[in-house]
Amino acid sequence: MRRVTIVGGGFSGLTAAYYLARGGADVTLVEKQSRLGGMVDTVATPQGLVETAASGIRNSGRLESLCRELGVPLVHTMKESKRRYLFRNGKPTQWPLGLGESFGFAGKLGAHLLTGSFRPKAGESVDAWGARVIGVTPTRKILNAVLQGVYAGDPASLSASLLFGKREKPPKPARAGLVAPPNGLAQLTATIVDKLHELGVEIRTGANGDGVFDGITVLATSARDCSALLKDRALETSKALASIDMVPLLRVTAFYASAENSWPGFGTLFPRDEGVRALGVLFNTNIFPNRGDGHSESWIYGGAQDRAILDLDDAALFEIMDRDRERLVGKRVEPIARYPQRWHVGLPHYDLHLEKLSPAKLPLPENVFLTGNYLRGIGLPMLLEQSHATAMSILARNGK
Ligand SMILES: Cc1cc2nc3c(=O)[nH]c(=O)nc-3n(C[C@H](O)[C@H](O)[C@H](O)COP(=O)(O)OP(=O)(O)OC[C@H]3O[C@@H](n4cnc5c(N)ncnc54)[C@H](O)[C@@H]3O)c2cc1C
Repeated sequence: MRRVTIVGGGFSGLTAAYYLARGGADVTLVEKQSRLGGMVDTVATPQGLVETAASGIRNSGRLESLCRELGVPLVHTMKESKRRYLFRNGKPTQWPLGLGESFGFAGKLGAHLLTGSFRPKAGESVDAWGARVIGVTPTRKILNAVLQGVYAGDPASLSASLLFGKREKPPKPARAGLVAPPNGLAQLTATIVDKLHELGVEIRTGANGDGVFDGITVLATSARDCSALLKDRALETSKALASIDMVPLLRVTAFYASAENSWPGFGTLFPRDEGVRALGVLFNTNIFPNRGDGHSESWIYGGAQDRAILDLDDAALFEIMDRDRERLVGKRVEPIARYPQRWHVGLPHYDLHLEKLSPAKLPLPENVFLTGNYLRGIGLPMLLEQSHATAMSILARNGK
């Protein structure tokens, strides 16, 4: 089997390396940072665990088999996280629509389900799809708030087909829901790294993947970095990838005394017109066990509609967060500690431009393959699917 080089040691690159090495390929993994894992990391602070990007994974059959093979346990969310809130009229609520709005919403959706006209049209934004299928208020107060918690995009330009269109789903798990390893997501990435060593994968950290295109190469980086890597080899594709809008994100994890768990549940999402700057807040210590001694919250900011917040210093950012939190819980409380994580070049914007671009179909030099969060989805389950599919196709083409 010929050598396969993987550029990028985030979740995408590590999982692609694992499936290739497990299938008998001779794998080299090149990562430009000194640490592997990319955006995924779990920091053990004196107050508890802090996740830098993803904090949970939607379970899939693929994830379950991977974790079984690696011996990584997965825990499901705790019952304390059952309630999820949306903010409306100054307070969190489990259903943010009034009676009339609810009837309007159900009637409109029902009619579209009956006629099959709920399917998104090509070039239709989430705002336009929502107004057509569920109505303007439910779109603003529910749909957009939920989507900003996942995609952090601008509903006026987010693509309804990319988000709700027909696409392949990961294999079903034995038990659906959100999962995570007991010690945080870095437990999974660190175990994959150990397994790669065991399988004989050569791992080069602190090394730029530019210039390694001498055999089969898998580019497992962000769209932006992939564009730079392809500049001298596939100019048009490089330009197309550079045109993908990257949405910045910011996550501040704060620890409080246990008594500050004011709205027990998973967290709260804030529709844009409710006067709160945060996109949402997660109550980490209610979601998974072992996340801290007291009460831990992660406040998420930024996204396509608030890029400027990434430029604020900690003092200005914490002031905004304290004000937002005061609107949620009705009082100001100084946290015991807080840990901000800024992603200036965060996630690809799943917008109408990305829909049209269709990056998975862009031409590539022979023996170059892509995997990453701009191809099939942002979340780790879809990255796992993409990396698995890429590895299987390389192995099949090369006789293993
Ligand atoms: C705040 C936040 C919360 C999130 N929450 C969730 C969640 O709860 N659940 C979920 O499923 N997903 C979540 N995500 C999304 C998920 O974390 C990311 O999509 C995923 O981690 C991306 O992994 P990746 O390996 O594709 O990319 P990356 O993690 O970006 O890895 C790419 C790697 O390539 C390396 N690289 C780049 N260029 C080169 C080069 N030239 N040479 C060598 N190496 C190079 C980089 O250094 C990096 O390590 C969240 C993201 C953010 C920002």
